[in-house]
Amino acid sequence: MESETGTSLICEAEAELRTMFGHFIIRGYLRGDEESVALVRGNVNEKENVLVRIQSSCLFGETFHATDCDCKWQVMTSLYRIQNEDCGVFIYLFQEGRGIGIFEKIKAFYIQQTYECDTVEAFKRLGLEKSDLRTYDIAAGIIRHERILSVRLLTNNDAKIKTLTDNGIPAIRMPLELEEADFKRLAATMDESDIRELIQYLRVKRDKMGHQMVHDFARRFLKELDASEGKQ
Ligand SMILES: [Zn+2]
Repeated sequence: MESETGTSLICEAEAELRTMFGHFIIRGYLRGDEESVALVRGNVNEKENVLVRIQSSCLFGETFHATDCDCKWQVMTSLYRIQNEDCGVFIYLFQEGRGIGIFEKIKAFYIQQTYECDTVEAFKRLGLEKSDLRTYDIAAGIIRHERILSVRLLTNNDAKIKTLTDNGIPAIRMPLELEEADFKRLAATMDESDIRELIQYLRVKRDKMGHQMVHDFARRFLKELDASEGKQ
């Protein structure tokens, strides 16, 4: 499959992967020297409305369980939803720190901590014009390679929907809702300032990065935070 740059996307490796969310076929996709991974559940070939999640790597959140982002929840919720339907694809793209790479992300964290600014501001101070450098065309290629006809995409980010539709893949948005019970379970392990920081991060996503904030509890928390700062 040819991309816009003429580099083809190929499936390099495949195996079965057993997870706490059930069994998947894991496929390693390569385009140029870019590696990506897809976890496929059930038969998705020539299927309409396949449940899909496109996840960008977050070492801090997913591996180290950092408390200031919702990436790990998004992974777990998505895999759980795919398991429930017994059909779907979870695509994992190695684009750390919204595409700036892990070292730049560490620098952005340092800037946030030093200047007490948000992530968008930190990217600016790093000299980056955009606060999000991620692209999703490889994901579109994987979806086509899996011969999926149309997609229900688990996301709060309209940019992902746009990339798919621009690539000729019909896609509708499925809100990626985090259950309040899960949030509470997690919040029980966090101190108050960490919870506040997480909510603030969700608010930056909503206000500065165009993400739709659908889960009720997050909306409620954000409303309370806005109110406490006299915004509403
Ligand atoms: Zn994260």
